Amino acid sequence: MKIFGLIISIFIYYLIFLQCHNAYGQKYAIVIHGGAGNFSENDISETKQLEYSAKLMEALVLGDSILKNNGTSLQAVEQVIKILEDSPLFNAGKGAVFTNAGTNELDASIMDGKTLKAGAVAGVGDIKNPISAALKVMTNSNHVLLAGKGASIFAREQGLEIVDSSYFYTEERFKALEKQKSAEEQIDKKGTVGCVALDNFGNIAAGTSTGGMSNKKYGRVGDSPIIGAGTYADNQTCGISCTGHGEFFIRYAVAYDVSALIKYKGMQINEAADFVINDKLKNAKADGGLIGIDKNGNICMVFNTTGMFRGSATNNKKPEVFMFGEK
Ligand code: ASP
Repeated sequence: MKIFGLIISIFIYYLIFLQCHNAYGQKYAIVIHGGAGNFSENDISETKQLEYSAKLMEALVLGDSILKNNGTSLQAVEQVIKILEDSPLFNAGKGAVFTNAGTNELDASIMDGKTLKAGAVAGVGDIKNPISAALKVMTNSNHVLLAGKGASIFAREQGLEIVDSSYFYTEERFKALEKQKSAEEQIDKKGTVGCVALDNFGNIAAGTSTGGMSNKKYGRVGDSPIIGAGTYADNQTCGISCTGHGEFFIRYAVAYDVSALIKYKGMQINEAADFVINDKLKNAKADGGLIGIDKNGNICMVFNTTGMFRGSATNNKKPEVFMFGEK
């Protein structure tokens, strides 16, 4: 009987320990972006602002609950990005911008900070959720980056949803292309999406998805599917997802640079991100921003433009979203 009592007490102590661990020991964090650009309150109607906030919040709340319920950072990153890809509001998935030829060529990547494994797709036009294809490349192939037709064949083989190219048609983006063509403007840089998460097991993951730059030509690929440029994750340092003028983000190896500054210079994530975005890139006249989480759960959201759709949440901070310069 005594032994029985002892077992019951140990069990009760164990349950209490688990509860305390949940409340105080675990530390998850999530941060998202929906693209950086030089936009202000006057450029986006109030209704649209509400739509953006609601969609960012929906994605963030989902990510927060995945992590709260002991889901992995990779699961959170994929699911959150899928929500943003399925919305026509962002330049990723459904809302992707158009190329000069009037087509859509989408790029995405994902990285696991625990194993340093990564997957990416570039220039795909029929995969509904490029982020899921990127994840499959990471988990089910020996490669890191698959492009164009081959990526589509792989995605189909993996059982991912394939759509007709007309799925990516949105009037707003098509009109933007026509406007750019007549004005000979080259770029429209807002709406790429990204997510970085740290889960209750201490693992960091990062992902990015985009339609690239409106009016792009010749199979142009930006930084978003390039590991080390648009996306990077390492449990020893941080996870990063970028948005901005991709050519510069590739040349400055932005996502990896932030990780390297933490690793080799002992910088804090905010300091490192601020240096790369507001010093190096600004001096190069490159617009953009990034989001990140370090191994201790510190979050950064840094941009050198007037706006960046963004939001974050942690185990002890409710989800919050922002668009302009507000802190
Ligand atoms: N970085 C993306 C690209 O260059 C665009 C963006 O983030 O808005 O393709």
